Amino acid sequence: MTDLADRLIAGGTLSDGEWRFLIEGDYDRQLLFAEADRVRRRYYGTDVYIRGLIEISNFCKRDCLYCGIRRSNGNADRYRLSVEEILSCCGQGYELGFRTFVLQGGEDSCHTTEWVGRTVSHIKEKYPDCAVTLSLGERPREDYEIWYQAGADRYLLRHETASCAHYEKLHPPGQTFLRRMECLRDLKQIGYQAGAGFMVGSPFQGTEELIADMRFLQEFQPHMVGIGPFIPHHDTPFAGYPQGPLTLTLTMVALTRLTLPKSLIPATTALGTIHPQGRELGLKAGANVVMPNLSPADVRGQYSLYDNKVCTGQEAAEGLAALRKSVSRAGYQIVEGRGDAL
Ligand code: SAH
Repeated sequence: MTDLADRLIAGGTLSDGEWRFLIEGDYDRQLLFAEADRVRRRYYGTDVYIRGLIEISNFCKRDCLYCGIRRSNGNADRYRLSVEEILSCCGQGYELGFRTFVLQGGEDSCHTTEWVGRTVSHIKEKYPDCAVTLSLGERPREDYEIWYQAGADRYLLRHETASCAHYEKLHPPGQTFLRRMECLRDLKQIGYQAGAGFMVGSPFQGTEELIADMRFLQEFQPHMVGIGPFIPHHDTPFAGYPQGPLTLTLTMVALTRLTLPKSLIPATTALGTIHPQGRELGLKAGANVVMPNLSPADVRGQYSLYDNKVCTGQEAAEGLAALRKSVSRAGYQIVEGRGDAL
């Protein structure tokens, strides 16, 4: 394992068989996680960056088969935050020490190019020392450009899977793999710090698809990579599928750290949802970011992408003190500052 790890760190390519071994082979995962931790420490020491996640709307015109806020889910209780509400979340976050705000949402037709641009400008005017990350799905390149001009620094758009055939099984016709990839390339070209990522254990995913994900990351070189287990949502077509396994998710986090030593990798909320120590385990496997929830408490339950999403306690911004403690128990420390990619 260690020789393969060394080749990855050096930017080398691996054969299918070598990738297969790293992903599903019979070897001690603790050794892999230790390798990943060594690489993260080389570049980031024990620093953990925090991002305040603001879920600005759960209206969505898309129909991703896995997602609880998909258009066809008539049981979703929809909400949309106003600019004032978003600014107030930022204000509370700023007080708590957050210097990155992530505006995430469904693809809400009411979020015009102009509205989003204005919201970004307001935040940057009020908090010039903060980074703004957007995660609002697929938009025309022009929108991305305008928002970048307005001051947005980063954009998260998981590729979800790097296999075109697999992508088509997770999404309805009309949501294409090519378009998703085109958006990612646009974002990077425009100058955003770009985030890709995928779910682990999503329906119809096998090792081959995960190998494709790793090869895509190696080629695309995103600044950020979000990786979390698939978790079923009861009101979706994938309600009956099992959730993604913990160890496989941690394995993919670790392999991503080896492949992209300088990347920013969150220990995701989904990871924290499937295991009480999920986030800490993610940090020990190479992750270096956590994204506590800054959304207004009364709408948190409504941003339900999957079942049982944790939304009280350490994943909530109010629980920052507790999070600080558990991060330091894991051997790291939360630091202030924007935490840009190296
Ligand atoms: N609309 C935005 C934000 C999507 S929500 C966009 O398209 O980028 C953020 C991420 O949640 C998605 O990219 C997806 O990977 C993840 N997600 C959605 N449903 C999920 C589920 N059932 N289990 C685990 N992760 C899920």
